[in-house]
Amino acid sequence: MRHAVPESPPEGIHVAGRWRRRETISLPNPALPAEVSDLCPVADLDDVEDAVAAATEAAPAWNEAGAFARGEILRRAAVLVSERRELLAESMTLTVGKTIRDSRAEVSRAAAILHHFAAEAGQPKGEVYESSDRDTFLFTEESPLGVVGAITPWNFPLAIPAWKIAPALAFGNAIIWKPAEIASRSARQLTAILLEAGVPPKALNLVTGPSSNFGDRLIAHPGLDGITFTGSNQVGELIRQRSVASSPRLQLELGGNNPAIVLADADLEFAARTIVTGAMGQSGQRCTATRRIIAVAPIAERIGQLIAAGIEGLEVGDPRSESSDVGPLSSAAAQAEVSDHIDQAIEEGHEFLAGGKRRRPDDGFYVDPTFLFDVDASAAIAREEVFGPVTSLIVAADTDQALDLANDTPFGLSAAVFTENLHDGLALGRRLEAGVVHVNGPTTGAEPHVPFGGRKASGGHFREQGRAARRFFTKDKTTYVSPGGERKVE
Ligand code: NAD
Repeated sequence: MRHAVPESPPEGIHVAGRWRRRETISLPNPALPAEVSDLCPVADLDDVEDAVAAATEAAPAWNEAGAFARGEILRRAAVLVSERRELLAESMTLTVGKTIRDSRAEVSRAAAILHHFAAEAGQPKGEVYESSDRDTFLFTEESPLGVVGAITPWNFPLAIPAWKIAPALAFGNAIIWKPAEIASRSARQLTAILLEAGVPPKALNLVTGPSSNFGDRLIAHPGLDGITFTGSNQVGELIRQRSVASSPRLQLELGGNNPAIVLADADLEFAARTIVTGAMGQSGQRCTATRRIIAVAPIAERIGQLIAAGIEGLEVGDPRSESSDVGPLSSAAAQAEVSDHIDQAIEEGHEFLAGGKRRRPDDGFYVDPTFLFDVDASAAIAREEVFGPVTSLIVAADTDQALDLANDTPFGLSAAVFTENLHDGLALGRRLEAGVVHVNGPTTGAEPHVPFGGRKASGGHFREQGRAARRFFTKDKTTYVSPGGERKVE
């Protein structure tokens, strides 16, 4: 294989305050599989032990440094991320196949998240209460959770780690970060930036490589006070089960099967444009991507045509090109899995308004944007999370049935409603079983200052981002302060 690595990030994993060289596995460039995109260093069980020990040692001093010092370091990191936008964006495009425009947008978002939590660090961290004893000063105060494991997926190599690591650090925690293998290049870059900005070396540990090497040890490690995980339901469930004995606090952000309801009075051209972006952006590899379009019968045909035309207009190709709208999937396995779902839908006789042709992995891990029309809500393609550029339109008799169909899924991450009647939009929004609802917007998108997370099988009890992040990464203490002795009046 040829090597396509431009300016290289640090080599190795970052454990116990220094970069450690390790054996590597080579990863293909999703757009040009004959090229190596990265050499992912492989950590072992001892590395995990050392990482947890180092984080445990570093956590108290990092807390003692104070919120404003920690915020200042995060602010510096945000500036460094912005300054290196192109380099960071190129890495993501090279390793996970994200289009260069999507990659740049993600870098900007990671910087915004770091800025947000830099400021959030200094926000109030407790409450003062009246005591039944008038002389007693009674207050609550948050302290850091302690040592946190952050396990992240490949689909947002910078933004998802940033929305875990930034609040964890802001509120005084030390971290062991385990990214997905194909995102490890971006992880090394972000780790190097955070260290350069001033994060104490032992407070940020990065272990990369296949989870089969050390994953089970990490998720069951008694030294972890919390685990924040984003990824599949399968691995989320594994973490829930394996961590029972050590019982860390768990934050789980899992899969989705996100509906967009289109009512008869919606601006159909706007709705179609927005749905195409929500379904096909980032090759459909967003947990919040629009997987099911639920259109009421009178406008189903028309919105179907408009969406098909929008998909037809997308440019599929080299993710480095400024004009590409849809790049390859992240891996040959992902391409095969999504293509198998499409083949099954073909066998079942579904109507395709776009896509459906299988591509060869040797030419890049591409899947053409695929749109199925008038799909039965019980079909596998509409029920499972197909993590790629595939979306299905289901016809509903009326608004009530549209809502029932939207909620008829074990998932509950995000949802959208398109209507010109905001009363209906808000009413449906309240009844949608999803953690995030957009009225006249794509199912995708999350701003850093508001909570994000799913209901039902899409998430756990703790939300991410916004003030919700503080709830996960800190624990409360209630303190009673009495003057002691008798009151002395001068
Ligand atoms: P994944 O579950 O396969 O992997 C996620 C992470 O877990 C990776 O770092 C992986 O190496 C690690 N992992 C796997 N097995 C492990 C083990 N035994 N021990 C420790 N770590 C282990 O998910 P993925 O393929 O990287 O990402 C796609 C999935 O993530 C989709 O289901 C998508 O919906 C979901 N996702 C959810 C959100 C959200 O916020 N809800 C956001 C992005 C992605």
